[in-house]
Amino acid sequence: MAWSSSRRKERFNRDWPRVRRVIGERDGWRCQWPVTDLYTGVTHKCLRAGNQVDHKRRDGVADDDSPSNLWVLCDYHHALKTETESVEARRLKRDRRKEREWYGHPAFR
Ligand SMILES: [Zn+2]
Repeated sequence: MAWSSSRRKERFNRDWPRVRRVIGERDGWRCQWPVTDLYTGVTHKCLRAGNQVDHKRRDGVADDDSPSNLWVLCDYHHALKTETESVEARRLKRDRRKEREWYGHPAFR
């Protein structure tokens, strides 16, 4: 369908290579993930060398490419976050299904 393919093109940020470089340079290509020291309780940035420019928030529909929603992550924290996101997405899906089942109950009709 022409409609859906044009929508997909709209979503793709043609400026992404530039945005990626700007964010990478802003963060010095160092991981911005907050790490809390178990002993001191102090939270600091990971600051390991990273080349992943990641969206802090994803709503699953369109990614927000504004600089405040982008940061550099190292491979480790990027993988960790992606894993957390998929668990979270599965949980959300399950909750929504439960909600639908609840409101689909005959008592609400
Ligand atoms: Zn990191």
